[in-house]
Amino acid sequence: MAAGLCPRLRVFVASSRPLLAARSGALPQPLRRAGPAMPLAARARRGLGSSTAADPLAEDFATASDLRFESPLEVVKYPDPVLRARNKRISTFDANLRALADEMFDVMYKTDGIGLSAPQVGVNVQLMVFNPAGVKGEGEEIVLVNPVVYKSAKRLLVFEEGCLSFPGIYGNVLRPESVKIEAQDVTGAKIKVKLSGLPARVFQHEFDHLLGILFFDRMTMDVLETVCEELKVSSGLECI
Ligand SMILES: [Zn+2]
Repeated sequence: MAAGLCPRLRVFVASSRPLLAARSGALPQPLRRAGPAMPLAARARRGLGSSTAADPLAEDFATASDLRFESPLEVVKYPDPVLRARNKRISTFDANLRALADEMFDVMYKTDGIGLSAPQVGVNVQLMVFNPAGVKGEGEEIVLVNPVVYKSAKRLLVFEEGCLSFPGIYGNVLRPESVKIEAQDVTGAKIKVKLSGLPARVFQHEFDHLLGILFFDRMTMDVLETVCEELKVSSGLECI
């Protein structure tokens, strides 16, 4: 049985129209953040000192060791604490990052998913990949780095979700119908786009992972009761 995010809805993804490619091509400027690149002397002049207390973003950037991974990647299952850990922003757009994204697609397809976040492969950084078609060579492969949601639709939709970190568990989750997001692609180029339909749903599920939020956190008590026994079996935790 497919264990990915809503793979059963693959049939509704009839269009292979690019979701992000056109917009990302139109906005080729990479995001520039002063925080981590600022010399210490300059930080001191601005009164920031060497402490990150006054500049919380500075500590949020991933180092090379944060981005290290071992091949082949394996999907981390709940309740591994890596799924709740803080995910650092990415400031280095290099061959290692591309290799990590490529390997995430490989393991996503292999496990029959349509979206995957970096913490789900044990790498706590702000990176997600998805392809609503769920099949290599079909649809569009999307890599989003450091994503931010700057607008969410007021209209909410219920949709049955699954998660590669919770094999075999599916439940209804209420989320905004569409979101406007900013992110960077794997080269660091800025992306600004509105997502709706299945891409919006996949994005929001993966975006939650980057915040340490898991899909059952957003289930109503009624829905939680329907998956409670399976959650208990998979995690060893008590039902609420
Ligand atoms: Zn998930």
